[in-house]
Amino acid sequence: MNIEPNLGSMKNPPEQFAGDAWVDLIAAPHGPEQRTVVAKVRFAPGARTAWHSHARGQYCHVTEGIAYFGTRDGEIIEVHPGQTLYTPPGEDHWHAAGEKNFMEHIAILEGGDNPDETTVWKEHVTDAELGR
Ligand code: MN
Repeated sequence: MNIEPNLGSMKNPPEQFAGDAWVDLIAAPHGPEQRTVVAKVRFAPGARTAWHSHARGQYCHVTEGIAYFGTRDGEIIEVHPGQTLYTPPGEDHWHAAGEKNFMEHIAILEGGDNPDETTVWKEHVTDAELGR
């Protein structure tokens, strides 16, 4: 048993996020027999991910602010603190803060059979796709 190392708050790369988003890793696999990844992600006002999908799906539990999640069919779901958004394996989507306030969520996912495909990143989200 041990207390996990504190890797610090890491800024997400601009290829994958527009605006400032910071991630604190909460849990990560210790070896190939484990897959669980949990991270706290903080989005500055207006920040959003690029389009992406997860090989084994993802849960996002919102802890602060209002979160917005969108899919290719144009649907946008507003998620409040205490609610958990689920996105199934392989579904393209984005996550965003509102324009005026910070948003924080806990992301929970499993590593893919090919670790490079746990999350597959695509193009950035346009303002029109965000409905802004
Ligand atoms: Mn996602």
